Amino acid sequence: MATIFTKIVQGDIPSYKIAEDENFYAFLDINPNAKGHTLVIPKQEVNKIFDLDKDAYSGLMDFSYRVAKAIEKAIPCERVGMSVIGLEVPHVHVHLIPINFMDDMRF
Ligand code: 5GP
Repeated sequence: MATIFTKIVQGDIPSYKIAEDENFYAFLDINPNAKGHTLVIPKQEVNKIFDLDKDAYSGLMDFSYRVAKAIEKAIPCERVGMSVIGLEVPHVHVHLIPINFMDDMRF
């Protein structure tokens, strides 16, 4: 069965798109830790990050870097944090979270 994130990529579940190319998709997290909290996913449905082949892994990191730079420009923040824990959804996703140290963060 397709993951929630595959359904998002296919347009079956709505999302707020931030960026997209042939292989990757970035969209706002539905339950953000901070304004601008973005998820970056490979369109390929893979559960665990180190199950990606090297090209897909490098591509995901490169795409995430470019999205993080765009977030830095769009949202005033101390830094953009990155996490790849992946506890809830079995589809590789990079969290990009604009962090302001004065914010009430829910970590
Ligand atoms: P993790 O798997 O790393 O714990 O987190 C999964 C993330 O996906 C959570 O931050 C959660 O809010 C987000 N998420 C789960 N379902 C949806 C959804 O349908 N749409 C969006 N935009 N985000 C989702």
